[in-house]
Amino acid sequence: MEAQLQNSDTLNILGELAAGIAHEIRNPMTALKGFIQLLENSSGDQYSLYFQVIKSELQRIDSIINEFLILAKPQAIKYVREDIAKIMKETVDLLTAQAVLHDVQFKTFYDDSLPKLFCEPNQIKKVFINIIKNAIEVMPKGGFVYIEVSNAPGNKIHISIKDEGEGISAANMEKIGEPFFTTKETGTGLGLMVSFKIMEEHRGTIEVESELGQGTTFHLYLPITEGTSD
Ligand code: ADP
Ligand code: MG
Repeated sequence: MEAQLQNSDTLNILGELAAGIAHEIRNPMTALKGFIQLLENSSGDQYSLYFQVIKSELQRIDSIINEFLILAKPQAIKYVREDIAKIMKETVDLLTAQAVLHDVQFKTFYDDSLPKLFCEPNQIKKVFINIIKNAIEVMPKGGFVYIEVSNAPGNKIHISIKDEGEGISAANMEKIGEPFFTTKETGTGLGLMVSFKIMEEHRGTIEVESELGQGTTFHLYLPITEGTSD
């Protein structure tokens, strides 16, 4: 089963709104965090459980705002020539500790002869992180995540991230990338939407291939266009 995911006007409108709203929410959040910290410091142990909950919920709001901010049109963001395999290697290093905690091992293959791409490396890394994190999270009993960075026909770089998780049902496949679609108790349902948006900005595409009970593969394609590679 495959789903081809395309550009969406909804995402563009959402992107413009996101920046404004996120900034508006950030300021009161900072004040809240400060005063809650003061309260906690002066209240002894009695309410420590309450403070724990308050702080973790604030943290959750924080992550939602951060993901939303990425939706906004990149302003201070700089496109540079970068090696996609290198970005992936850094991402894998970053997530290795988390993988080990979940009994997950990475199997990687990098084609080291790929041209550099004109891209925003932190944004691309964000996409890799979101998709690899999902792969880890979908294997509660551990397993392998296969990661490949290679050439694809049509002058493209192909990145594939394959897990051995539960897979995605046909009904859920339609909702992949929709804002707030999550099947996780503590999920935000924003990781993939943000990833699609970033890929769209890089003129790339995402294809999802999944088989229930077998696993899921995310295929990312980034074009090597004239004048944008070394
Ligand atoms: P979150 O991880 O917060 O739920 P995402 O946008 O990252 O939000 O993912 C949305 C949903 O897509 C997940 O809740 C899950 O149902 C589904 N999903 C994403 N990646 C995978 C995967 N590798 N295997 C199975 N389901 C997945
Ligand atoms: Mg996620």
